[in-house]
Amino acid sequence: MLHINENYQKLPGSYLFAETARRTRVYQQEHPEQEVIRLGIGDVTRPLVPAVIEAMQKAVAEMGVAETFRGYGPDFGYDFLVNAIREGDYAPLGVELAYDEVFVSDGAKSDVGNIQELFSPDALIAVTDPVYPVYVDSNAMAGRAGDWNGERWDRLVYLPCNAENGFVPPLPDRPVDVVYLCYPNNPTGTVLTREQLKRFVDWARANGALIVYDAAYRAFITTPGIPRSIYEIEGAREVAIECCSFSKTAGFTGTRCAYTIVPHEVRGIGRGGEPAELNALWKRRMATKFNGVSYPVQRAAAAVFTPEGQEQIHEVIRGYLENARVIREGLQARGFEVFGGVDAPYIWLRTPGGMDSWTFFDKLLADCQVVGTPGAGFGPSGEGYFRLTAFNSLEKTKEAIARLDRLG
Ligand code: PLP
Repeated sequence: MLHINENYQKLPGSYLFAETARRTRVYQQEHPEQEVIRLGIGDVTRPLVPAVIEAMQKAVAEMGVAETFRGYGPDFGYDFLVNAIREGDYAPLGVELAYDEVFVSDGAKSDVGNIQELFSPDALIAVTDPVYPVYVDSNAMAGRAGDWNGERWDRLVYLPCNAENGFVPPLPDRPVDVVYLCYPNNPTGTVLTREQLKRFVDWARANGALIVYDAAYRAFITTPGIPRSIYEIEGAREVAIECCSFSKTAGFTGTRCAYTIVPHEVRGIGRGGEPAELNALWKRRMATKFNGVSYPVQRAAAAVFTPEGQEQIHEVIRGYLENARVIREGLQARGFEVFGGVDAPYIWLRTPGGMDSWTFFDKLLADCQVVGTPGAGFGPSGEGYFRLTAFNSLEKTKEAIARLDRLG
């Protein structure tokens, strides 16, 4: 009989959102008269903008006409989208990308989860802590994380991020092959300055390490001078792969479109000790295992970079950031210690009185009927913290914050 990949059996259950949903359900069953406000979701709530919808509808119509019908698309994305990304997203940052360094995909989750296929089975991995769980789980599935001891994986290097270090990860204190960085950060909502990011790039260059840089929340950056792409840092083309997405930028969480940049300079050691380009490997992987994003969705994504598209998506993002401001300032006014929420849709707060994060979840639900996410679910250093998100209406967000006065 088949021997399965036992690494899957080492994974702890996907406990976090299942458990927050379960506790919310139980509360609602016991208190059907109460209206619960959800500030726990990491999903957008506003509709696709008109420029995107028009482009998608036009493309759908083309698919119904013999002359303009399209079958399989190019493996790495249609020209019109690849060039829109190069010219609309990267050129304004002063970053020049070759055409074949851009890979269009169905999601940043897929890309950050799949990229580890390019690493040797024994590669050593470092992650920030707390962390978006996909980096950890995808490496655990491949056996690189070692064993789960109930709190952490014994072969992963954790880079703790907390109020004490200003949520700036320390450099790894031992040799590692890959570091995953995500800025603006999920869950802490914090960003790195150019100098802080440069430290990682310099370290990676000096140590022959790779940085997987998840920039899914790039569009939320408003503070002048904060890098939107790791390639704004000198030398990053040698050491970094960058993953971006239309999900949070333009409301594509249900529509699905993203892109990953793999510069030709990024190399690893291959057979016979010879250097090998990761770009060539990623091309091979995508050509073998992926058949492209649908034509109407790629047309819709390209519309994000038109002047109307840009204006419309930034209007939506301004709305989410206004919610974030309401949450941040409302918490501060009530004496909470608050982080993030300026350049990101996430607000990270220290739980009051040293309460553990699940106890605070229960208390916020019971006293205020507000749902958030316990920090402990994002990694050991998340304990003592709590995440709220800006993905709700302004009205509900304001009401949720006003309800904090009921906290006993
Ligand atoms: N990366 C981070 C840090 C995220 O928080 C998310 C979604 O919440 C994703 C990637 C997933 O993006 P996509 O919808 O493009 O798969």
